[in-house]
Amino acid sequence: MFHRHTLPVTAFSQNCSLVWCDETNEAALIDPGGDIPLLLGAIEERGLTLKALWLTHAHIDHAGASGTLARTHGVPIIGPHPGDQFWIDALPQQSQMFGFPQAEPFAPTQWLKDGDTVTIGKHTLQVLHCPGHTPGHVVLFEPATRHAFVGDVLFAGSIGRTDFPGGNHADLINAIKGKLLPLGDDITFTPGHGPESTFGEERLYNPYLAAGR
Ligand SMILES: [Zn+2]
Ligand SMILES: [Zn+2]
Repeated sequence: MFHRHTLPVTAFSQNCSLVWCDETNEAALIDPGGDIPLLLGAIEERGLTLKALWLTHAHIDHAGASGTLARTHGVPIIGPHPGDQFWIDALPQQSQMFGFPQAEPFAPTQWLKDGDTVTIGKHTLQVLHCPGHTPGHVVLFEPATRHAFVGDVLFAGSIGRTDFPGGNHADLINAIKGKLLPLGDDITFTPGHGPESTFGEERLYNPYLAAGR
């Protein structure tokens, strides 16, 4: 079975997800933004082996611990989409601006694009390129549990900010309405911040997705 556990990290309470396959005990971290001891403790207490780091986008609260973890554990950094290269280049400035520990620089082992897949143990997730919050933002969808890891694209009752460099409100709405919601009302999702929700709940009640906007 595919498992997931949410670990809020950094001063921004960013939802890092520990995901794993219980047939192989192989694990991946989605958006390891910081708080490395907390992340490693969660892996160790379950007897898992860290195999990969998956990034939805390269904002510091999502990507800040990637370089260090990749070096100390010899694991690949997979994602985000190449559109976020400039955010990776800006990690030192992001660290300074938000008072984060200095992020160790990195280059993704593998970029992701729409239609790609990522695999942990016996489970494969689908990659959807969903720009707007950042140009290179990706969403990861696990079909068996019908769960999506959406980063800062969509939140319970809100959507991602688009006022950063490279942000685009129309792109964001198009990605949500054109790629995420069609997956189905029953899909549960882990957003980058705050509580889980379902696509159906957001389709009906999210004020940013109301008809006519
Ligand atoms: Zn972000
Ligand atoms: Zn965020």
